[in-house]
Amino acid sequence: MKRRFTRVRFLLLALLSAVVLRAAGAPQVDVAGGNDRWTQRVAHDWAPRTAAALAALQRVAAERYGVELSDSQLHLVLQATPHAVVPGGLGPAILVEAGLDEAQLRELALLGPLRQDIQRLLTSLTDAQAQALAEQIVAGLNLPALPPYAAESAPGASDAVATPTHVQVQMGGHVDDAFGREIEQQWLGVVRQATGQFDRLVGDVLHVQLSRDVRVYVAAGEQDYEQVLMDDMHLQRARAELTTEVSGGLSNNRGQIALKFTEKLKRPALYDRAVRVPLHELTHALQRQLGGMTYPGFKPPQWMIEGSADLMASMLARQVRIQDVEAETLRDWRTRNLAWWHNGNRTDLRPDEMVGVTHTRWLAMMKAKRGCYQMAGLMTMYLQAIRGDRFLHDWVAYFRSAADPAQDAEGAFLQAFGMSEADFVEDFRRWLAQQ
Ligand SMILES: [Zn+2]
Repeated sequence: MKRRFTRVRFLLLALLSAVVLRAAGAPQVDVAGGNDRWTQRVAHDWAPRTAAALAALQRVAAERYGVELSDSQLHLVLQATPHAVVPGGLGPAILVEAGLDEAQLRELALLGPLRQDIQRLLTSLTDAQAQALAEQIVAGLNLPALPPYAAESAPGASDAVATPTHVQVQMGGHVDDAFGREIEQQWLGVVRQATGQFDRLVGDVLHVQLSRDVRVYVAAGEQDYEQVLMDDMHLQRARAELTTEVSGGLSNNRGQIALKFTEKLKRPALYDRAVRVPLHELTHALQRQLGGMTYPGFKPPQWMIEGSADLMASMLARQVRIQDVEAETLRDWRTRNLAWWHNGNRTDLRPDEMVGVTHTRWLAMMKAKRGCYQMAGLMTMYLQAIRGDRFLHDWVAYFRSAADPAQDAEGAFLQAFGMSEADFVEDFRRWLAQQ
């Protein structure tokens, strides 16, 4: 990067902005945000990239087309949080939010502004040519390859997933009726796609192995589900009846997962059950495996266990395609969690309440509809955002350390994520207040 020709000004606090002088004719990218790690990451990673992209465009425009970018085309602000105050006169603001994936961030912070400048400056170029030039400039920045699962797969790409070897998916098989055949025809393949994504994540990305094969039972109707719970998963009748009543899916310590499909479910709910639920349950299976099954070192916090299970499910679900309408119901996990924060937090759940929550307290929170999954989801999403492409690696290391009897919870969090849990929760609180 030709840093000499770029000037990146970090506008963490308004009073800092006056300190830096502006060089005429050089790109200038300011950052408006809060006092949180995401804002720091935007300032550290994205502002220099955007400035370098603008500088490259400036060179190409001058050398190839003999035109100069105007001051207003060279100045913009990366706004890291929705509520950040953007001082006037610094150029247009682009909102780059935590939790967007790497491909979305590149589109917002690099390709978008480049395209806009190109279209305004080089009016003879078609939209496609402007896009090609913007992509060429971004390629010239030599950014690291997109991390796996950073972007949605192209249609049909998931068809290429090899038959999973560690996750077997079968019908419950205790009933033989029209509904069962319908589920088999429409959803068995989708469950295979979803679990195939998980298998690929575990092997190719996380570089771990599921130590035992996982068997997923797709149960068609409550009767089939209850029968799977009793005959295959060996639950007592009373327990199986209760579980059938309250749950849509169940996993156990022996690598078995049951999914309950019923005739009452509408298509988005069926899709959710076929994709999100198995991915969530498989993540729990992996967590337990990494953590030595019983977590002899320490029990990871409930927000991390549930939040990261939802995170993995949402990340991988986007690779599973049937129809866009249905994919939409899962893709907006981030938006839905934020919407809960904006409008749905009726009991005023606070981030610090998520610290040290026992399983019993968690269940009580669920019962009281306090939004603990949404809060846990936001926390995990934020942790991933500030750790960037190190997150999955950190996450595996963290759960692995829970298997070490000599490891304590506090030290493990610090080692894996580079900050204490208390420090993280405080940082998260500051960021959340800006949403
Ligand atoms: Zn769970």
